[in-house]
Amino acid sequence: MALSGGADRGSHSMDKSITLPPDEIFRNLENAKRFAIDIGGSLTKLAYYSTVQHKVAKVRSFDHKAKETDGDPLYEISVQEEITARLHFIKFENAYIETCLDFIKDHLVNTETKVIKATGGGAHKFKDLIEKKLKLKVDKEDEMTCLIKGCNFVLKNIPHEAFVYARHADSEFRFQNTHPDIFPYLLINIGSGVSIVKVESEDKFERIGGSSIGGGTFWGLGALLTKTKRFDELLQLASKGQHTNVDMLVKDIYGGAYGSLGLTGDLIASSFGKSATTDKEFSKEDMAKSLLHMISNDIGQLACLYAKLHNLTRVYFGGFFIRGHPVTMHTITYSINFFTKGEVQALFLRHEGYLGAIGAFLKGAEEDNPNQYSWGENYAGSSGLMSVSPELNPVQRARSGTFDMLEMDRLERQLVNLPLLQDPTSYIPDTVDLTEDALSRDYWLFCFEDALDGVRLRG
Ligand code: ADP
Repeated sequence: MALSGGADRGSHSMDKSITLPPDEIFRNLENAKRFAIDIGGSLTKLAYYSTVQHKVAKVRSFDHKAKETDGDPLYEISVQEEITARLHFIKFENAYIETCLDFIKDHLVNTETKVIKATGGGAHKFKDLIEKKLKLKVDKEDEMTCLIKGCNFVLKNIPHEAFVYARHADSEFRFQNTHPDIFPYLLINIGSGVSIVKVESEDKFERIGGSSIGGGTFWGLGALLTKTKRFDELLQLASKGQHTNVDMLVKDIYGGAYGSLGLTGDLIASSFGKSATTDKEFSKEDMAKSLLHMISNDIGQLACLYAKLHNLTRVYFGGFFIRGHPVTMHTITYSINFFTKGEVQALFLRHEGYLGAIGAFLKGAEEDNPNQYSWGENYAGSSGLMSVSPELNPVQRARSGTFDMLEMDRLERQLVNLPLLQDPTSYIPDTVDLTEDALSRDYWLFCFEDALDGVRLRG
């Protein structure tokens, strides 16, 4: 795993077998004010907010008619420094929790509270360790409550959070617009194990099922089969493999399709079925792919059965097993389509693995600042869906990863739905023609000019 190093990368006296991750990952730790942690069976997810200073251009326009004649300027532009509260997320394997806590402690300067919200099984298991290392009091929060709170939050507040995956379509990711009306839905959280939760409203939800065959199974069985211990490498192997070399297909049994039952020849009849009937050695790639299919198909079928049983048509998938990986998303989508004949839609979440951490963080933030602000995504610090390519090296992945790079900015007010958009068909956008509106034109030219240095530096 790559554990993050920040400014003193290389000089820090940590276990040398652990590589410190790129600077971006533990961003702004020095200015961290408040923490929440979600410790699951495999991974620890940490959310913290820090203050960041940045420049903003402020425009003050004068009374148009009064000033125009005497030649005075119509407006005044000034650049001001502003402080924003920014929410950061990182994750690391539980095996590194002590090292990470030490690293965090070494970089903490002045937190706003002396409490850390903690959720997941590890909130109980590692309570004493966290309190001893960070000198913050652990305040435990219920795992399901945090998970659903985080899920509702991203669905309502983060544009383009949920998407449908379609491998062969013109655009692979079809995003859903945020909508206040998100209920009811089914959440299938694929972490180490699988939890299936029916969500009916902000506070009404029920864990209606689960499975022990989840992300931990892929990681564990995959490691046993391929001797590859790292999750990302397992995914890379899987993306290069051919599952048909290992799986027994309908055509291997029938010589073709089983037409009267509507089963095509290429359908998997038995996962890993070929290994029982041959002495041949299988490649790591093929076994990893077959395993990924087996687990994803199984979860897809479970999701579909629970959705049908509870009459739900929207099914969201969370948890870090998915990792925006095309094969996983394709297999889950395929199996849901196959079993429900397209009646149920599989929707994936960009912030899949951080739902519990987000929920725990919000619980803490709400306690002393209820309804005073809202959070929105900081696009410059978050990444899109670029990281899915397994060909990217780990540093590129970390830099561009959907999961590894997520930031949100705090707005010092509550966001409300734009009343004009309540009926989108009657809404006429208020656009400006820059060739005619001198004030707006100058303002935008000023903004572009002011941004030039920053753009040049980044290039
Ligand atoms: P939990 O809360 O149980 O730890 P997560 O939602 O964090 O669950 O998902 C854990 C699973 O995510 C692992 O079992 C594994 O399948 C997968 N995973 C994704 N990325 C990694 C990674 N870098 N290291 C280990 N497992 C990972």
